[in-house]
Amino acid sequence: MQYIVLDLEWNQPLNYQTRAYRLYGDRLMFELLQIGAVRIDENGQILDSFNLPIRPSIYTIVHPRIRRMTHLTPDILDESPDFGDAVNQFVNWCGEDYVILTWGCDDISVLYQNLHFFDVHPALPTFYDIQPLFSKTYSLPNRTNLKQAMELMHLDPEENRSFHNALNDAYYTALVFTHLPQMQDVLSYPQQARTLIHPKPHATKGDLFESIAMALDSEQAQKPHCAICARETILEDSYIPQAADKYVTLSRCPKHGLNLVRIRFRPTVDHMREMTVRTCRATRPNIAYVHTKRLQIQQRAAEGRMPDPELMLDYAEKSSVTFED
Ligand SMILES: [Zn+2]
Repeated sequence: MQYIVLDLEWNQPLNYQTRAYRLYGDRLMFELLQIGAVRIDENGQILDSFNLPIRPSIYTIVHPRIRRMTHLTPDILDESPDFGDAVNQFVNWCGEDYVILTWGCDDISVLYQNLHFFDVHPALPTFYDIQPLFSKTYSLPNRTNLKQAMELMHLDPEENRSFHNALNDAYYTALVFTHLPQMQDVLSYPQQARTLIHPKPHATKGDLFESIAMALDSEQAQKPHCAICARETILEDSYIPQAADKYVTLSRCPKHGLNLVRIRFRPTVDHMREMTVRTCRATRPNIAYVHTKRLQIQQRAAEGRMPDPELMLDYAEKSSVTFED
């Protein structure tokens, strides 16, 4: 038996008012744009790979953010097969006696929604999810994204293999999988496609910006209000990232001293960055934390290891496809 590690990239409507989305959105939330796969034998040896972009037929304009992430340009997609053809090529490549592995449950669900929508019915084997096996192996309470998993395993991304390309992500997933001590236990984690639901445009609490950099430059971020007197404070230093969606710094009120300023970002359904700013009176541990964190970040920046903040936030977004329970 062979393992086929599968990773998919997909497009989404430019916004939720487009004609295509109004017509088809309830049945096709995301349209597949690329199939990437890596074949592994029973001993964990990587044998070969499959990479095929797909010409979209419903959401034909690739969302600029997705285009930036995947590097799938109109030129590439125009020359690619349509979904039905692409799926057939993939299934032929898979051969016989195999199972399909993915990282997390998003890919199978988006794939099956596309299969139903386009009325394509290939014979596919059972899908298994590597992510819960990884969490169990490392005693992690939560779902981990692929990048974090690689870091935990000390597997370095390769310079010419960017994340968010179906083939590269499949390759990295295969690396993680073959480095697991009990990789065959993945067969304990079969998965089924789940029904995708529309992301509800949540009530906006914060301010909307086009980018994280613009948000951090805004008056709200640059002159946060003191937690005690609500007067404008003066930033001690620039914001530093705590996580993909969290930034922190210290700010001084002339009267009340240092405030801890915490910023949180949420990508909205129409691809803006919603920012909320919270301040509280800084405690000694807060101050020590920010200083230590800043030194770490400066060190990482000096080594050229700071990831693109926009991509990080999108990465968080990609794994947050919403499902019906
Ligand atoms: Zn104050």
